[in-house]
Amino acid sequence: MADAKLPLSPGATLGILGGGQLGRMLALAAARLGFDVVILDPEEHSPAGRVAARQIVAPYDDRWALKRLAEACDVVTYEFENVPEAAVAELTALGVGVAPGAKALAAAQDRVAEKSFLAEIGVPTVAFAAVEDDASLAAAVAKIGAPSLLKTRREGYDGKGQAWLQRPADAAAAFDRIGRQPAILEAPADFVRELSVIAARGRDGEIVCYPLSENHHEGGVLRRTSAPAQVSAAIRDHAESIAAKILTALDYVGVIGVELFELAGGKLVVNEFAPRVHNTGHWTQDGCEVDQFEQHVRAVAGWPLGPTAARAHVEMTNLLGPEVETWAKLAAEPESRLHLYGKGEARPGRKMGHVNRLRPLKD
Ligand code: AMP
Repeated sequence: MADAKLPLSPGATLGILGGGQLGRMLALAAARLGFDVVILDPEEHSPAGRVAARQIVAPYDDRWALKRLAEACDVVTYEFENVPEAAVAELTALGVGVAPGAKALAAAQDRVAEKSFLAEIGVPTVAFAAVEDDASLAAAVAKIGAPSLLKTRREGYDGKGQAWLQRPADAAAAFDRIGRQPAILEAPADFVRELSVIAARGRDGEIVCYPLSENHHEGGVLRRTSAPAQVSAAIRDHAESIAAKILTALDYVGVIGVELFELAGGKLVVNEFAPRVHNTGHWTQDGCEVDQFEQHVRAVAGWPLGPTAARAHVEMTNLLGPEVETWAKLAAEPESRLHLYGKGEARPGRKMGHVNRLRPLKD
């Protein structure tokens, strides 16, 4: 049903489930467009809560907190895909719209559901099989072979909850390593590059895509993104058609990040998608006309989508753990734009900020 509040007028209030750095950058973009932001996060003084009008400190499934959020907000979005589905259902029942919707969330929360959905809509992925117990593990190994990658179905991120099987005989040990949780066994993608496409769909069904980015991971964590990636028109068109298929099939509203493997010969397969703004889209803050954060706010607010063209070439580097202590040196580099998340403790590997290094597009 159409929401009578849309498009949201400046002065309206946007709720965000999750108070991490993505919520923080969404809140800053929303503030620039004249919205107030209320964050729900169980952790006091969260990175997003400290730049928002207000934070409700409570677990995501706390009914009283969800009621307060629904009362305060005209529309609610989220900054991470592991928001409990029940929280979204509760907010919807309380009469506040949540975007992206429950369908996107359900597909993105479970790697088997995600890859089955992609297969249904004709989007290529690596071969996969579901694993629940020793019998289905044996069947999955018989189907997929080895080497192969065992991942937990739920809650995995940044390479966590994953174990490689070099040989079929490694299967039991790999299953033990991921805690014998429901899992997916994936064929290895023999990729030449990891690419991603950040795209958005508006309330009216309009779709826009950003130029592709090339991504480098270390230990499963994104280290660097370079964008716009040098890709053929055929690869760009294929990536954009994949994003459009996913967005349309999910009746999606907001920004999505679609991670792709480019195989030898230029074939693309989808690794996964994230129903939110995405780390590989941080380059758009300094590289594109309208960045992914403002784009997401525009989409959920029912505003027209903004232009996505690149204005500069950007190399985005995540500042992990103590690397953030180089901030003064980075701030002195004329080509660098620093984005820090205001997190207290620089634990090893923790995403503390990122730097976008710019150069002219024509290099
Ligand atoms: P994910 O948590 O699924 O995004 O995986 C994290 C990283 O692990 C990816 O960015 C890839 O570098 C690598 N990876 C994930 N799945 C596969 C696969 N099926 N084959 C090869 N590498 C993979």
